[in-house]
Amino acid sequence: MADGLGPIDIPYLQQALLHAHHPTLAIVYVHLTGDTRFIDDERFQPEYVPVLSDPNGSISEEAKAELREAFIQALVKYRKTGELPPAPDAALLKRMMDYCATDTIPDEYLDFVSLELPLDGEDKRMPGHGMQLDPDKSAQTKMVIIGAGMSGLLAGIVFKQHGIPFEIIEKNPELGGTWYENTYPGCRVDGPNHLYSYSFEADHAWPYHFSTQDLLLDYFKQVADKYDLRPHIRFNTEVKRAVFDEATKTWTVTVQPANGAEEQLASNGVVSAVGQLNRPNMPDIPGVGTFKGPSFHSAQWDHSVDLTGKCVGVIGTGASAFQFVPAIADQVGEMRVFQRTPGWLVPTPEYHEPVTSETQHLLDEVPFYQIWFRFFLFLTMADGPLEYLVKDPNFDRHDYAPNEAAAELREQIEAYIADQVPDDPALRDAVIPKFHISGKRSLRDNGVWIDALKRENVTLDTAGIAEITETGVRMTDGSQHEFDVLIYGTGFKASDFLFPMEVVGREGKNLHETWNGDARAYLGITVPDFPNFYIMYGPNTNIVVNASIIFFSECEANYILGLIKMMQDQGIQAADIKKGVFEQFNAEVDAANSQMPWGYSGANTWYRNKHGRIAQNWPFRLIDYWNNTRTPNPEDYEVV
Ligand code: NAP
Repeated sequence: MADGLGPIDIPYLQQALLHAHHPTLAIVYVHLTGDTRFIDDERFQPEYVPVLSDPNGSISEEAKAELREAFIQALVKYRKTGELPPAPDAALLKRMMDYCATDTIPDEYLDFVSLELPLDGEDKRMPGHGMQLDPDKSAQTKMVIIGAGMSGLLAGIVFKQHGIPFEIIEKNPELGGTWYENTYPGCRVDGPNHLYSYSFEADHAWPYHFSTQDLLLDYFKQVADKYDLRPHIRFNTEVKRAVFDEATKTWTVTVQPANGAEEQLASNGVVSAVGQLNRPNMPDIPGVGTFKGPSFHSAQWDHSVDLTGKCVGVIGTGASAFQFVPAIADQVGEMRVFQRTPGWLVPTPEYHEPVTSETQHLLDEVPFYQIWFRFFLFLTMADGPLEYLVKDPNFDRHDYAPNEAAAELREQIEAYIADQVPDDPALRDAVIPKFHISGKRSLRDNGVWIDALKRENVTLDTAGIAEITETGVRMTDGSQHEFDVLIYGTGFKASDFLFPMEVVGREGKNLHETWNGDARAYLGITVPDFPNFYIMYGPNTNIVVNASIIFFSECEANYILGLIKMMQDQGIQAADIKKGVFEQFNAEVDAANSQMPWGYSGANTWYRNKHGRIAQNWPFRLIDYWNNTRTPNPEDYEVV
């Protein structure tokens, strides 16, 4: 943000304000003037409807023009004088937040949401903010972090802020994790970037509302450089195993550099930040691997294969294929897309839209605008959408939706999808899911997916593949299709948490043997018998409809730091989560997940492991995770 003073280009500002998020303007107007008339007046109250929602909350054009006019005058005055009225007191701030939420924010949310509003000059958003660790003890607490993706970098930043020595082990030659590995055409984030960014590094000039992979990778590189993390990262090095020594209460981490000999690192604690979606899954279709032509997985895109004019087969229609199929449709000669299950579409008209220079001007130059715009995204994506998932016992169409509002939403989205296929009943039927919304991961849509499927050179095939052959595929009905190139958009081995590392805890217990393919952890972070071993984006920490996964990682980093502080305060070296606490937590998670669409709708989804358990998803509210990860309860842990 500029310093707020100086002349103003009125015609440009008028133009820029046409791009404004008007509810944000109404709130910023209070900061500039102390006048609450816009947030109080009925005509300026935003109202959001889920499908094809207007970001301006359906405020009338006339009201928006009135708001813009008053806003210009307020901003001009501020730029002339540099003076602001007294900062809003707590009561006024609450009214501003309620206006932004279009509802009364319950008291229990106030501390939680207030953190997202660094208005009083003190930015409290960095995980571990305000935590007082013992500098001498911290300096002797050596940590190993596995993975230099979004979570691992975050752990490094937080440790660095608190003087904890650490090393990040990264198997790739560059940082970025999923944003380094997935380079397939069309790859981009599907959470809005003004929210999908570290809370403490939110003021970033995102070129798109949903930026492309290269821009995400650049962001993480910039943040890593800003916090000088590179000297702490060992690239091209894979962690083979981590073993806990009960006598010394330390971990020995065996790492293997590419083309080098194994080496052992001693540490007091280990953070696994390897993600859930990092090991490509090849389908369990007979004949996989026999295809003689070029073939590759979406996460290992072979850019040396020129698809121009080629006959291409694509297996899978999940989030990755949903992005790369439209991106290559006009390049390939012909393409046959094999779909087992369609996904629900989330109408997102701005999905591919750039952030205009006018919007960027507002974000950069208008005081408080960026903060409140992010807050709006945070609130609208926080716990509100959960209401569409909760079963209403009095609702009598549970085979269709959990409650009345969800049924209406499903009807609207079915109509939204059907409208895109007016002339082809077979295709229309194929792309409308037959299971509950959120039974599996929904997909951001701006129409390009179905446009691609409607092309002359593209066919959606739902018949079912019996076998992959040397030249293509044989279908269950006996028909055959031949291809030049075969692409697997078949997702990841999401349930194989921490695979293939070997992790050995107390009494020689092996983590994978303990889990037996059914990974569980307390808060997704700690596992009994594996003291001082912490998981980020671990079991049951995936969020499905609300907020950004970065938010969860920040909660985890805060909690891990809290555990280190807890051990310092108690003068102990290692703490192990109690089995009873862990078991009760997991029982509650399982009970709650069974009531969620992904738990009961029966859709194929990577949320479910081979035992049928939902091992990925967090079924509760965001605020519950936030509350649970503020400060570890020493009662939950036993001293090793
Ligand atoms: P995915 O959602 O798991 O999709 C895998 C696809 O392969 C599904 O269509 C699946 O069909 C199909 N498939 C798997 N095994 C098969 C088999 N044996 N026979 C036929 N079809 C088979 O994987 P993904 O698309 O890579 O996405 C995974 C996750 O990564 C996403 O849900 C998301 O969380 C993340 N992601 C995010 C973005 C983003 O932010 N933009 C982009 C890409 C990925 P079924 O549905 O029937 O199982």
